Amino acid sequence: MIKFNKYALIGTIFILSLFSSFYFIDVFSEKNMELQKQILIKQAQTHFKDQVNTRVWNASYGGVYAIPKEGQKPNPYLRDNILKVDENLTLIKINPAWMSRQLSEISNIDGFHFRITSLKLINPDNKATPFEERALKYFDETNEKEYYEIDKESNFNYMGALITTEYCLPCHKHQGYSLGDVRGGISVSLDSKEYFEVTSSIKTSIILLKIFVVIFLFTIFSLIFKQLRYNQQLQTEVKRRTKEIESTKHLLQEIIDTDSSFIVLTDDKEIIYANETILNFTGYHSIEEFKKNNEYIFDVFEKIEDNSNFMQTCNDGIHWIEYLIKEQNSKNLKVCIKKDGKYRYFKPYAKEIKTDDKVLYLITFDEITNEYVKIKELEHMASTDALTKLFNRTKLNDVLEKEMALSRTVPSPLSVIFLDIDYFKAVNDTYGHDAGDRVLINIANIITSSIRAGDIAARWGGEEFMIILQATPVSEASVLGEKLRARVEGHLFETVGKITISLGVTEYINAESEESFIKRVDEALYEAKERGRNKIIIK
Ligand code: GH3
Ligand code: MG
Ligand code: MG
Repeated sequence: MIKFNKYALIGTIFILSLFSSFYFIDVFSEKNMELQKQILIKQAQTHFKDQVNTRVWNASYGGVYAIPKEGQKPNPYLRDNILKVDENLTLIKINPAWMSRQLSEISNIDGFHFRITSLKLINPDNKATPFEERALKYFDETNEKEYYEIDKESNFNYMGALITTEYCLPCHKHQGYSLGDVRGGISVSLDSKEYFEVTSSIKTSIILLKIFVVIFLFTIFSLIFKQLRYNQQLQTEVKRRTKEIESTKHLLQEIIDTDSSFIVLTDDKEIIYANETILNFTGYHSIEEFKKNNEYIFDVFEKIEDNSNFMQTCNDGIHWIEYLIKEQNSKNLKVCIKKDGKYRYFKPYAKEIKTDDKVLYLITFDEITNEYVKIKELEHMASTDALTKLFNRTKLNDVLEKEMALSRTVPSPLSVIFLDIDYFKAVNDTYGHDAGDRVLINIANIITSSIRAGDIAARWGGEEFMIILQATPVSEASVLGEKLRARVEGHLFETVGKITISLGVTEYINAESEESFIKRVDEALYEAKERGRNKIIIK
């Protein structure tokens, strides 16, 4: 509809422009041609006026007398047509009409002649030509005093009316004329070749001008039309593309929103976009609400400061996004969010997106809570003794290694207690293996409840236990050992009754190997057994 209107408007403007141009060209050309005609009229009027003046002059003398030319007869239509001056000289009378005729006969200017005529002729030689007859009739029928025509031979024929004045009356009164009557006229014929040349050149110019205008307007309007059509096509294309982009955007939005991962777009300072998954998870209804409560994406995460690859706002002095991009493939980086009192774990992944004027980061977070918990369980199982729930020997070796290294670097004292249940084989043999197991569990509980938070107790194997006491000299360790020995001795074990333990205690000597450290405490224990059991030996 709009398309049609636009083109109709262009078409209308084109036609209007064309016709108004033609109109102005025509007006201009007609004015020019009229001007040319006026020049001709002016010329004819001048000649006419000249003749009239000459006649007025002649009439004012009531005709003039002149010496006749050879063989020239006086005018028979005039009264007093001769004036005898003397024997030898007789003058003849020249009245205005005869004067005009004679002037007419001798006027031989190129392309010009004139003559005098009347409908009521005195001299039959002055009989009117058909043009003159039409002119005289025109004067008769109208009040006009001028008449002109252009004939086929390109002559401009003009006739001016001769009005009866007081000078005319003496001669023409007898014809019945009175003052102001048209008695006849003087016709002037001018060669109007030049007029025709000028007007035809104007006409040619006009035709050329019109052709030019048509071509010019056509070119202009076809360019406008083309531009319009191009704009139209462009508009359609833009609309199509916009629609395409919109639907792609919508599709991408859908995909991003249905993705189970959290997807966040940030420019490193603030959140630009967050998908529905993270909004739903964190309980916000819109990005605005999300941003209001979490200026930075990192604000959502729990701050966990241990050495198990949980991301910090700043890691090794590097901003977390930069750190993530650098280490995401080599380290098992994690973040944690607390929801409904439970910890949920996510693996982050960042990608740098460079746009024309800025750098953005697309960060995704995949939930790994189940995997993480499973790994933690497995790790726990791998380091724990299933029966006593204490660390196993493998874990103990790890811990011991670290504690020895720490003791070396800090430096700080490090002691171990190695203990073994006395005559445990007999317990099994007497009360059965299950009763023996319960004893082992009870002993583990006594140990756990006796040590400090930083101390580590482990089942070394069978009915042997080891306790690592960090920042503890052997003197303090032996006090704890004695306490343990006494507690076990004083405990009444279910089914089994009384049990005793033997203990070896020693302190780490700087720079010694683990083997030598363990060997010494083992020797201490051995000595305790040797010395009769239920004893503590310090080495
Ligand atoms: P000693 O005073 O010299 O230490 O004598 P002992 O009998 O305690 O020493 P021995 O090395 O002869 O026996 C250790 C016993 O511990 C043998 C084994 O039956 C028992 N034992 C080892 N592991 C377990 C266990 O997991 N459960 C039970 N019930 N018994 C165990
Ligand atoms: Mg043993
Ligand atoms: Mg034993």
